[in-house]
Amino acid sequence: MKNKNKKVHVFKSEVKELLHLMIHSLYSNKEIFLRELISNSSDAIEKLRFEKLYNPEKYTKKVYVPKIQISIKKTENQIVISDNGIGMTEKEVINNLGTIAKSGTKSFLNQMKNIENKEKNEFIGQFGVGFYSAFIVSEKVSVYTKHASEKTESGILWISEGKGEYSIEEFATQEHGTKIVLSLKTSEQEFLESWKIKQIIKKYSDHISIPIEIDNYDKKTQTISWEKINEAKSLWTQNKNKITKKDYQEFYKYITHDSEKPLTWSHNTVEGNQEYTSLLYIPKKATWDMWHRENKHGLKLYVKHIFIMDEATQFLPNYLRFVKGIIDSQDLPLNISREILQDSTITNVLRKTLTKRILKILNTLSLNKSKKYQKFWNIFGLVIKEGLAEDSENQKNIADLLRFSSIQTESIEQTLSLKKYVNNMVKGQNKIYFLTSDSYQSALNSPHLEIFKEKKIDVLLLSDRIDEWMMNYLTDFNNIKFQSVSKADDSLKELISNENKPDDKNIFDDFIKKTKKILTNKVKDVRITYRLKSTPSIVLTDTNDMSTQMAKIFSSAGQPVPQIKYILEINPTHPLVKKIQKIENESEFSNWINILFEQSVLAEKGTLENPHIFINRINTLLLK
Ligand code: ADP
Ligand code: MG
Repeated sequence: MKNKNKKVHVFKSEVKELLHLMIHSLYSNKEIFLRELISNSSDAIEKLRFEKLYNPEKYTKKVYVPKIQISIKKTENQIVISDNGIGMTEKEVINNLGTIAKSGTKSFLNQMKNIENKEKNEFIGQFGVGFYSAFIVSEKVSVYTKHASEKTESGILWISEGKGEYSIEEFATQEHGTKIVLSLKTSEQEFLESWKIKQIIKKYSDHISIPIEIDNYDKKTQTISWEKINEAKSLWTQNKNKITKKDYQEFYKYITHDSEKPLTWSHNTVEGNQEYTSLLYIPKKATWDMWHRENKHGLKLYVKHIFIMDEATQFLPNYLRFVKGIIDSQDLPLNISREILQDSTITNVLRKTLTKRILKILNTLSLNKSKKYQKFWNIFGLVIKEGLAEDSENQKNIADLLRFSSIQTESIEQTLSLKKYVNNMVKGQNKIYFLTSDSYQSALNSPHLEIFKEKKIDVLLLSDRIDEWMMNYLTDFNNIKFQSVSKADDSLKELISNENKPDDKNIFDDFIKKTKKILTNKVKDVRITYRLKSTPSIVLTDTNDMSTQMAKIFSSAGQPVPQIKYILEINPTHPLVKKIQKIENESEFSNWINILFEQSVLAEKGTLENPHIFINRINTLLLK
């Protein structure tokens, strides 16, 4: 019979793209479709429980026994997954199953175009393949659903072959909830085996708190009986001794869609003033949207074991947004909204303790001899650095977690801790030296490092974009001050012994005076320096002035930058300087001094305001 209610819709283009991608890149891990559908059913049931608490008048008062049921219809080539959760209205069906609401989807899809097939599998898994994964194994998917608050005798049937369109029609039903019928592709018949389905559920969904049942048909008695196949107890509410490593790992995969195991985790139940259980995971990989500001990152919130919301961002500071897990509070009210959560004192206390706990987990990991912490730092170091500004209360703990490249690590990989740096300080050194630059290579080759290399004094080499900004917040470590080597610094004088100072100091007095006059408006000061070896001169910024690197960051962000006035330091032992010093012709001398200055600025900034003037000067000299 033809249904005259039937309407055909086309998928939004990003759905089509995602479907195509998924079907062609997830072939090696097809079984996850079951995890995704069960997780949606479980969410739907949790939503209904929650709704019933909030708006009881909208729902029946009948005793509610939530369950998820799976039946296998071998002769029809079908798997049926049904739940008695909240269900969907027609509008919701169209919104939820015909579009992708997730922000950042476009940029995600664009990113996907540039990566290898092998990696796609993992990447798309992290994005959360969700409902559409049904199409990996099905040639047709039918969704029968009815919202629990719906008073009519009909529900909505959504049907699609996953190609470009779907249809929607009404169907008669008394029951609320959702039933998904997967008509399997002929190549996917293995999923019609009951043992196989049981195995997959055990693997991915054992800890789901709602019973999952599978039907067994008894040929003798010709009856169907339902067999519960999962543990059906929330993992975190169970006794720690009973939970295996594997349980924790699978639970992590379930809540994150990550295909890899987590790096580490911590499960705590706290009693007393604030009663709560937390289960926090540190992933191995960053999620695809870690740098998308608009995307939410947070914990799953439960109150008294009832699911309240996903991505509750209020329990973690932003710089710990890579942490995944759940928090189950005994003290928060059940009817809490995001807004109230934001201002609640309970939330604030929890956030503080969870932050401390995570920093402790990381600290423990960092003291461990394994390579785990280094792996963590390589991926999440940049995010941790944000913490120095965001969380002044824990600055010391965050500083302990930092890792750096330095002259002595001789590697772009950031491996050096501040503690180790301090332990390796040379006699008389009372500052932690650092240099910020655009790249590790340019930092390593900077003339600012010459004396440090010679004296074997280590310098931290900072080349992440956030570093310059970070160093504004990180002023000392265990009471030892940080010092930029590209800024004027008197402490250095004491460290550099007098060994290479020539006696003819007066000769230079005159030279410096003349130089200052030539560069009057361009520099803040001109000095003799003994920190250079193979470079004739260098520019520094004054102690309290904006650094070059900071100015670059400002200007690349389109912000106005004050003109930096440099201090020019000249190396009296350099042959070029010795030569210039002897020049008597005033205009020639002046030309040389300007070249010294301009090449120092060029080395420092990588650019010149008037490069053609500099080039003209050089060309004039070349012709001589
Ligand atoms: P996600 O679960 O990450 O939101 P999915 O693609 O898995 O993404 O599901 C999309 C949406 O479809 C869900 O957010 C939910 O609103 C709706 N949905 C899917 N399955 C069900 C179900 N069994 N019952 C009710 N709603 C569902
Ligand atoms: Mg889902």
